[in-house]
Amino acid sequence: MWPAIQAGASTKEEVHRSVSNAENTASEVRDVIIVGSGPAGYTAAVYTARANLKPLLLAGSVTAGGELMNTTDVENYPGFPDGIMGPDLMENFEKQAARFGTEIQFEDVTELELDGDIKTVTIGSGETFRARSIILSTGSAYRELGLPNEKRLSGHGVSWCATCDGFFFKGQDIAVIGGGDSAMEEALFLTKFANSVTVVHRRDALRASKIMADRALAHEKISFVWNTGVEDVLGQDKVTGLKLKNLVDGTETELAVTGVFVAIGNDPRTDLVKGKLDLTPEGTIAVEGRTSQTSIKGVFAAGDVIDPTYRQAITASGSGCVAALDVEHYLADFHA
Ligand code: NAP
Repeated sequence: MWPAIQAGASTKEEVHRSVSNAENTASEVRDVIIVGSGPAGYTAAVYTARANLKPLLLAGSVTAGGELMNTTDVENYPGFPDGIMGPDLMENFEKQAARFGTEIQFEDVTELELDGDIKTVTIGSGETFRARSIILSTGSAYRELGLPNEKRLSGHGVSWCATCDGFFFKGQDIAVIGGGDSAMEEALFLTKFANSVTVVHRRDALRASKIMADRALAHEKISFVWNTGVEDVLGQDKVTGLKLKNLVDGTETELAVTGVFVAIGNDPRTDLVKGKLDLTPEGTIAVEGRTSQTSIKGVFAAGDVIDPTYRQAITASGSGCVAALDVEHYLADFHA
């Protein structure tokens, strides 16, 4: 687990010192706690820190940095004309948030008590934090196909992250499932290692943006299987193939592959707030109009967890900014 980092902590020793300084007193009531550390969470941290609200950002232990940690080149985040690697972008976000005094702890939140004026946040160790306002920026999680053997063979040929695992598939034949930008990005990245990449998509047209689709369609190592669903992942101890079904004529075939990358989208991470906050029919946290105000006063939400449509790093950042400004206004009334 990574240590907590505070503003100005640049050496290991300083980081260590700031961890000790950051000891939590259960009685302390903070102005704002931010849960989640993707572009939305870090942007909210930069804004609330610069507003002198001394935010505590609970960044998650393994999910810190969010989805961009699993991305390669980010070419469409404005301000980086030559593109930037996803993990580098997130490191920049983190440094910028810390620079203005955000206290960052790489901890998982396990429980939220959101009713009343003072909210309570519990982390994995059982430690609790209290705050007048909460920003939820918990992002989204990889969607699964829901096949029993997909789970069983996870880590044995089935993966959700080409950037993390692609290297292990050198010279192999790989399938990528999905037709969106994520699937195209995974497929293109995997061509660096794979002998061949077969994209299996359930329709006859890609959902991906034109630029990504064109790149994938033109790549000599990538081929496409259209109108096809995955019925099963085959293999005892490791993946040996996929059982496919043509969704137009019903014919079943097998595709011999030793790697399967599932890239069929994401679902908002709302487990912490199910039954506590109103959700939309799409499963995202419901907010009022263009604000970040959830169904409970003092609780705000931003980023992919409220966004069933756009789900870009830049829209998540903008949403984090909105949440920070909403918190500022809320606290001004709170303290008045
Ligand atoms: P997405 O756009 O929702 O695409 C998901 C794809 O998976 C769709 O083609 C969908 O099929 C398919 N799918 C969904 N559930 C399935 C299932 N159960 N079985 C088989 N196929 C299934 O998700 P995404 O590709 O992760 O992209 C999410 C957002 O992030 C988008 O806004 C995208 O533009 C953005 N993004 C951008 C970049 C980039 O610009 N470099 C990279 C990654 C993601 P249908 O087409 O039939 O619905």
